[in-house]
Amino acid sequence: MTFAAKTVVIVGGGFSGAIFGLKLHRKCPDWRIVIAEPKKRLGRGVAYGACGPDHLLNVPVNRMEIGLVPSFADWLQHRRASIAEALVESGLDLSSAFVSRRFFGDYVEERVNEALDSKSPVGLSSVRGEVVRLLKDDRGVLLTDGRQIKADIVVLAMGNLPPRPPGGPDSWLYDSGFFIPDPWAADAFSDITPDEPLLLIGSGLTTVDIALRLAQTGHRGPLLALSRRGLAPRTHAAGGAWPEFLHDRIPASALALTKLIRQQIALAASQGIAWQRVFDAAQRAPRYLACGTGGVSSAGASSCVICGRAGIFIGIVWRRG
Ligand SMILES: Cc1cc2nc3c(=O)[nH]c(=O)nc-3n(C[C@H](O)[C@H](O)[C@H](O)COP(=O)(O)OP(=O)(O)OC[C@H]3O[C@@H](n4cnc5c(N)ncnc54)[C@H](O)[C@@H]3O)c2cc1C
Repeated sequence: MTFAAKTVVIVGGGFSGAIFGLKLHRKCPDWRIVIAEPKKRLGRGVAYGACGPDHLLNVPVNRMEIGLVPSFADWLQHRRASIAEALVESGLDLSSAFVSRRFFGDYVEERVNEALDSKSPVGLSSVRGEVVRLLKDDRGVLLTDGRQIKADIVVLAMGNLPPRPPGGPDSWLYDSGFFIPDPWAADAFSDITPDEPLLLIGSGLTTVDIALRLAQTGHRGPLLALSRRGLAPRTHAAGGAWPEFLHDRIPASALALTKLIRQQIALAASQGIAWQRVFDAAQRAPRYLACGTGGVSSAGASSCVICGRAGIFIGIVWRRG
């Protein structure tokens, strides 16, 4: 199928915007595709941007494949020396290794940069800048510096909005120097002294990330993570497999889904298989998971902690902390 040539502007050149641009370019090489991104480097965004060597992917290498050539695993083959620690942890099995997120960022950025061609009037290109609004009459976008990019199609790929303060009676706190509203901001912890005690609201993977980041910068003060349910991210368990069990039955509610998963976990445990394999099987059917957990916060809250597992090394750091 061929389409009439179009101009597409992608707002946001993080992971989704960059990969979308790349794949659209492959499908429609005579289209003009412009990625508008304020940061210098494409394809990284929050997750694969400012991360240190201890910030690991939360799934193994084989779960990070995104249909590109070379595959992520093949690309890593040439960097085995840099991922020696991860390979030792995975028993030298590259596909099940938990490698640093920045390698994935490097991999994606390289693939996107290979495809960029700023000289051609068509193809994939990028513009450095922040989009402030869509052009109402003249289709396209307006950047903060006044530049306009006309487009037939605008794709919004701006990632998550900065977190909102949790609210509550002590809202005065949010305007004080005691509160850090966005842990991903580049200067988030610049005013924190190494011995200061910190309260981290939430106990998911963001908290793990922040704890690692603080540890890397020599923070010594106590860190206390607050969890609604007293849950901490679980470490990864290797080995075993569990068959898909959601393909032929769609649970009618989040409660039914939770019960089904618990039954499967009990069944897996009776066969000596780790509960993590049941979640791996469930994650292969996200369509069903999404409809199962959509409206019920209690199931959602637990699954956030359970589905987003931390790698082996992260788990150890977490327990020591
Ligand atoms: C800390 C962390 C770790 C994660 N780890 C994993 C993992 O190990 N494995 C996994 O599969 N998933 C992981 N994820 C999930 C992963 O981040 C998302 O799946 C994906 O990267 C999100 O991509 P995105 O393009 O939506 O957002 P981002 O990659 O954040 O990109 C959004 C981009 O939009 C740009 N932007 C925003 N506003 C504008 C504007 N007005 N104009 C122009 N550009 C704008 C931003 O500068 C940014 O570059 C992780 C997420 C986080 C936060």
